[in-house]
Amino acid sequence: MLVKWEGIVIRSVDYGESSKVVTLFTRENGKLGLMARGAKKTKSRLAAVSQLFSHGYYLCKAGPGTGMPDLSQGDIVNSFRELRQSLNTTAYAAYIAELLDRLTHEREPNPFLFQLLLQTFRHLDEGRDPEILCRIFETKMLMVAGISPQLSACVNCGAQREPYAISVTQGGLLCPVCLPSDPYARAVTPSTWKLLRLFQVFDLERLGDIEVKPATRNQLKHVIRSFMDEHLDIRLKSRSFLEQLERMERMAQPDQSD
Ligand SMILES: [Zn+2]
Repeated sequence: MLVKWEGIVIRSVDYGESSKVVTLFTRENGKLGLMARGAKKTKSRLAAVSQLFSHGYYLCKAGPGTGMPDLSQGDIVNSFRELRQSLNTTAYAAYIAELLDRLTHEREPNPFLFQLLLQTFRHLDEGRDPEILCRIFETKMLMVAGISPQLSACVNCGAQREPYAISVTQGGLLCPVCLPSDPYARAVTPSTWKLLRLFQVFDLERLGDIEVKPATRNQLKHVIRSFMDEHLDIRLKSRSFLEQLERMERMAQPDQSD
């Protein structure tokens, strides 16, 4: 039986002499593994569609039972060439793809996530701020994983009382009265928690230019990563690479490092 899916390649690994196992995130059916026979050969018509980040329509032969479908043909909609031109953007895209891969299960349809990934890659391809796009994507993934920080009021007493700190273990903002309840709570500026709250409800289709100061960028990253590290048991290879790149960038621009 032939089936057609619209998908984006979030992982592509060599299989045997000449083939590849491709993980697609599809609009219709969530995450799926496909066998792309011969795709490792440069002349193969499956070579381009099997590349990491490719977006296209994938025509597959679904085998009997629960075996992995065979990719018969693919039509590329967008290969995100600009995105691939820069090591920095590629590193962010690889991290985003790996994060999505690790936090989703096979064959669980989620058109919202497909659209989010597609829109994030489009923005990266257009040269938009990769760090902010990454923070928005992470914020949405925290929501998918059910560990979104509570940012409307103090998570402990419900009062709206500033200045807030953020508690990773209690899962949100803490007012000054409740601050002693978490010795590890960290002070956050209003711009940080307000941006985080904005990212939670933000429609990526409407991304304008977001100006974010380096100090706020650092806080955003720290808060989001602390939530991920505390509540998700995952280690991402692409994250270590991204962090190496960021360190090199900071060394090149010492005045940005506050
Ligand atoms: Zn409180």
